[in-house]
Amino acid sequence: MRVAMIGTGYVGLVSGACFADFGHTVTCVDKDASKIDRLHQNIMPIYEPGLDDLVATNVKDGRLSFATDGAEAIRRADAVFIAVGTPSRRGDGHADLSYVYAAAEEIADLMQGFTVVVTKSTVPVGTGDEIERIIRERRPDADFAVVSNPEFLREGAAIGDFKRPDRVVVGTDNERARAVMAELYRPLNLNETPIMFTGRRTSELIKYAANAFLAMKITFINEVADLCEAVGADVQQVARGIGLDNRIGSKFLHAGPGYGGSCFPKDTLALVRTATDAGSPVRLIETTVAINDARKKAMADRVAEALGGDLKGRTVALLGLTFKPNTDDMRDAPSLDVAPALIARGATVQAFDPEGMEEAAKLLDGVVFKSGPYDAVEGADVVVILTEWNQFRALDLDRVKLLLKQPVMVDLRNVYRPDDMKARGFRYTSIGRPDHA
Ligand code: NAD
Repeated sequence: MRVAMIGTGYVGLVSGACFADFGHTVTCVDKDASKIDRLHQNIMPIYEPGLDDLVATNVKDGRLSFATDGAEAIRRADAVFIAVGTPSRRGDGHADLSYVYAAAEEIADLMQGFTVVVTKSTVPVGTGDEIERIIRERRPDADFAVVSNPEFLREGAAIGDFKRPDRVVVGTDNERARAVMAELYRPLNLNETPIMFTGRRTSELIKYAANAFLAMKITFINEVADLCEAVGADVQQVARGIGLDNRIGSKFLHAGPGYGGSCFPKDTLALVRTATDAGSPVRLIETTVAINDARKKAMADRVAEALGGDLKGRTVALLGLTFKPNTDDMRDAPSLDVAPALIARGATVQAFDPEGMEEAAKLLDGVVFKSGPYDAVEGADVVVILTEWNQFRALDLDRVKLLLKQPVMVDLRNVYRPDDMKARGFRYTSIGRPDHA
């Protein structure tokens, strides 16, 4: 199959490279010339484990190419994927669909022969109908079908997720489009991946319902963690105790500073808007959004409490800035709330992140960026673990203790064990666990 991927970001680049690896011929298109330039030099514009090798192999074998101008690729494509961003619209939380609709117009003007236009971007219910209308209006003659195929990959584990997904969801009632989609994903038959064909609106809603449910699950365990602190219970054991029940499942039950990232915050908000507009509000998700916003902001209070309540003149070492490990993605990361809140209370913040600092420097004013974890900790009054990168799980704690002004750690990811930290002489606080076992 010939594929054009419009948008070469976290989703478009990974999906494009994986489809090429399945044996299809893929052109990844992006308006951002610097991204395409870098890809032509085999420099990845994002950090994603394994991506550089996957891209290099498929470029070398002639199945994967990159372009700023999609004309040629769109003309020849059996399937054109829209994988552009759908950020929150300022002010009202609706998904901003301007990039999606602009891509639809470009595709309409260029496509030839039967073309399947696939929305991979996360888009609100009814967007497929609007894309179809836009294309039909510009090209009354065109032979095409608009399909919804939401993406469920996780940054940091994106290639494995794309190649071994729990399921693939395809929303269409067009038989020819269905055959093209089945052919595109045929290699997944090998590992018996369920491919679920459904209506387009249903498919669009599945993506939002999935993300909202996961965000709610995280928020649930975060509230249980607060309760654990109040009553002297251990959230990790509560999570294990409930997670072993198959009806609940153990994933997404890690208490922390609140969810962030490029998807959950914007997708929960967009679902709330869609539901409100449809006259069928999703109050659980409205509450989830409110609790999570408040939680991220409250993390600075925890740091202040660890230092006796006052942060004026204190130095805080922040370890981890990205919203999770193994990505350089800073969008809506908790650090964007935590660091400014610490600075507003009078603290000096010195931070280190293995991959996120270039992006973080554009978003965080007043933070001093350091070249490594020990460099960040040196001379600080407290060290805060904000993202659980592997290198922060295996710190030389004796060295950390020596470098700190005083041995205080606030572990917002429950990386270390309270009894162990106490034995090492740290004043240690974490999330939802008694200070000592
Ligand atoms: P991104 O911002 O990393 O990438 C989007 C890319 O599209 C950018 O490089 C931009 O330059 C390009 N673009 C915009 N308009 C264009 C056009 N007309 N022609 C060519 N290129 C254009 O975004 P992302 O994280 O890859 O997310 C894309 C979509 O996938 C979003 O809807 C998101 O919600 C969804 N999604 C993201 C993830 C994730 O983990 N990042 C997971 C699942 C779904």
